[in-house]
Amino acid sequence: MKKHNFYAGPSILPAFTIENTAKAVKEFDGTGLSLMEVSHRSKEFVAVMDEAVALFKELLNIPEGYSVIFLGGGASTQFAMIPFNLMKKKAAYLNTGAWSKKAIKEAKLFGEVDVVATSEDTTFNYIPKDYTIPEDADYFHITTNNTIYGTEIRNDIDSPVPLVADMSSDIFSRPIDISKYVLIYGGAQKNLAPAGVTFVIVKDDILGKVDRDIPTMLNYQTHIDKDSMFNTPPVVPVYAALQTLKWLKNNGGIAAMEKKNIEKAQILYDEIDRNKLFVGTIAKEDRSLMNICFVMNEEYKELEKEFYEFATAKGMVGIKGHRSVGGFRASTYNALPKESVEALVAAMQEFEKQH
Ligand SMILES: *Cc1c(COP(=O)(O)O)cnc(C)c1O
Repeated sequence: MKKHNFYAGPSILPAFTIENTAKAVKEFDGTGLSLMEVSHRSKEFVAVMDEAVALFKELLNIPEGYSVIFLGGGASTQFAMIPFNLMKKKAAYLNTGAWSKKAIKEAKLFGEVDVVATSEDTTFNYIPKDYTIPEDADYFHITTNNTIYGTEIRNDIDSPVPLVADMSSDIFSRPIDISKYVLIYGGAQKNLAPAGVTFVIVKDDILGKVDRDIPTMLNYQTHIDKDSMFNTPPVVPVYAALQTLKWLKNNGGIAAMEKKNIEKAQILYDEIDRNKLFVGTIAKEDRSLMNICFVMNEEYKELEKEFYEFATAKGMVGIKGHRSVGGFRASTYNALPKESVEALVAAMQEFEKQH
């Protein structure tokens, strides 16, 4: 049976990415070797890294003065690496969910953290908008897409201090005005590549301003100076990321992706709002295009498990809500075809008719 992959991460990738990576794992670029057994310093792999960086910059329209680096350690290592490299005395954070909280916890190891606003009292079901960013903060950190709760900041906000964003789960889903940020980062396993590689876009002139000693591997400058080759990069995930970047380019780039993402999300949110069995969990203006969360309507609560099994039998995979939220979450990343969203909607309609 055809599976519809709604996992939140690792998550669906383009068939183009999987097929090309599988081929390269068997034989890489005419080398007679597997991608898994070539030196990262071979000219063939250096070309992969260079092309990945160049395409990353091209697709996101990254201006001069920024570097793109690929690291290990996941977005979670960035939670500490950012304050390590950028915080002199104080940083401001917007608390919009579990990932923000983890970033805040790490930042507190390095100085004063001003949490300017939080939506925790309502299980993070909206994005706070009434807050003041302190002018003396070294940077302001936001999580643009809250993968667990399904809220998203879809505009590039104005910040009086340097803006830093965790875009793990919405990078490449919409055009971004990079110039509004000094640093954007994310684990690649949501919308770009298999797990194992982390991307960082960093404005070069923001670095080198803290007094503390930074361990070599945790210093952004190390990886910028060595073109992400200071130590062995995650070779296979970087190759896969390049395939996804090519796929993005071949499919009209990010503006085209955003159009499709809006369309897919609309189809599912419309059904959630229409269907008497279900209800959305998120304030309408803050609904994510990437992670669509919903629960059973109060009077149909006891049907939750039954719907889960019903949908699973129809090939839906990964629609269980995060364990901290419950209900359902359908992740609709770039590679998810519209047909999968339509299949989920059809299952919701059929289930409604039965009840
Ligand atoms: C998944 C996720 C993370 C954690 O990423 P790791 O690569 O597993 O460390 C951080 N932030 C957001 C928004 C995420 O979705």
